[in-house]
Amino acid sequence: DLQPIRRALLSVSDKTGLIDLGKALAARGVELLSTGGSASALRDAGLEVRDVADVTGFPEMMDGRVKTLHPAVHGGLLALRDNDTHVAAMDEHDIGAIDLVVVNLYPFEETLKRGAADAEMIENIDIGGPAMIRSAAKNHGFVNVVVDVEDYEVLLADLEANDGHTTYALRQRLAQTAYARTAAYDTAVSTWMAGQLDGTPRRQTVGGTLAQTLRYGENPHQSAAFYTDGSARPGVATAQQHQGKELSYNNINDTDAAFELVSEFDAKDGPAVAIIKHANPCGVARGATLAEAYQKAFECDQTSAFGGIIALNSELDAQTAEAITDIFTEVVIAPSVTDEAKAMFAAKKNLRLLTTGGLADPMAVAQTIRQVSGGYLMQDKDNGHIAASDLKVVTKIAPTEEQLADLLFAWKVAKHVKSNAIVYVKDGATVGVGAGQMSRLDSALIAATKAQRMADALGLPESLAKGAAVASDAFFPFADGLLEAAAAGASCVIQPGGSMRDDEVIAAADEAGLAMVFTGMRHFRH
Ligand code: 5GP
Repeated sequence: DLQPIRRALLSVSDKTGLIDLGKALAARGVELLSTGGSASALRDAGLEVRDVADVTGFPEMMDGRVKTLHPAVHGGLLALRDNDTHVAAMDEHDIGAIDLVVVNLYPFEETLKRGAADAEMIENIDIGGPAMIRSAAKNHGFVNVVVDVEDYEVLLADLEANDGHTTYALRQRLAQTAYARTAAYDTAVSTWMAGQLDGTPRRQTVGGTLAQTLRYGENPHQSAAFYTDGSARPGVATAQQHQGKELSYNNINDTDAAFELVSEFDAKDGPAVAIIKHANPCGVARGATLAEAYQKAFECDQTSAFGGIIALNSELDAQTAEAITDIFTEVVIAPSVTDEAKAMFAAKKNLRLLTTGGLADPMAVAQTIRQVSGGYLMQDKDNGHIAASDLKVVTKIAPTEEQLADLLFAWKVAKHVKSNAIVYVKDGATVGVGAGQMSRLDSALIAATKAQRMADALGLPESLAKGAAVASDAFFPFADGLLEAAAAGASCVIQPGGSMRDDEVIAAADEAGLAMVFTGMRHFRH
């Protein structure tokens, strides 16, 4: 179903490739219509252009808020070329058909990344552009709509192949891309607005811009892609990659988990490192130096750390870089990197290095999405935070200052471990992590086993669980999990509380001589 292109309307904020496209269209005898800035650019290149203002009979006004919103434009886009009444209406109102719209929108997402003030964000919400895109896409039986610079060549190739006409297949594909673009654009706007409505109920939207087609998904037989939602927070989506192969689906997922976890540890309180495997931490630690934090995190589970993802809460330095290159690592993500450390990594061609420019704010308001068959589950991101003053001591003995520090550290880590989560911590480092088990008791057993294994690997006489602080992401429904921790040698416990059997669990803790605090908040993560 071939349709000719006789008139085109070009209105673009990103003027990349505009002149070449304009020339190629003009060479085919296509009449060019355009808006202010785009028209000037085309004229400067010696092309003949008609102003949209001339077509509408209205000047562009209100700082560009109203340029193309006019029946002379939308009638020309929406009219069905094979419908007599539509054609008669065009004649009666002197509306000329527009067969191609080339629009890219006000750069809302880029403006957000620059951290612009609210008034500037508002001015960067494009109105006429999405309206034209949607009109043209609706009428793709006749009209072409191009929203992506990369499609300029595709369009020209189709025109070339079909003697100045385009195929239905192309127009249909362009229309689908167009609606994906306006949906992503509106998502970026509504996500930004949601962030301004602290505490008020918000309607959520799902949408995004294709950032990268991935080689495959979780497994090689699954195709996959990475979409960004236009938000500007530091993280894997906005990071700069300095070296290494393209990130894979699993890399992106794990790198996100690693960076979100390490961002719990403010760099002001000293260096911290998280090592992630399969979205769960296999070692998290603070240290006097970053290199020491890395070493402590690595020691937690040396076997699992192989092929891991490492996130740092402060600038990657040469000493840490050197330690990291000792074993195979998939990805390193940090706020920044020294030149020396970068040079050190250069020899490891496959190692992916990302910098984010800062840490994520773990208390920021944001949303998470999970797909279920037939729909999405949306929720606020788990930005819950527990300070020492929020804790309730429930046992006869209270934790010491050092124990308290380890308890809070363990609690922050547990928030990032798949449920059921049990985390042992000693001296600001995890010594055993039990993740993702169907029973809390099993998670406790696994964490204890890992603490023993770590002691064996380091040649220590007793399990590292001995004297450790232990965190449980949700309450102990029975005393058994807690008794397991006590048997492994734990000295203190942090958990939400709130079980029907809290009394039983507290009595067991007292009996075992443990100090226990309740947070009143749980951190399920499934
Ligand atoms: P130009 O640089 O050509 O002056 O402006 C191009 C931009 O204006 C494009 O991003 C296009 O989407 C946008 N645009 C076109 N018509 C309208 C309109 O009527 N209102 C608004 N707000 N933006 C428009």
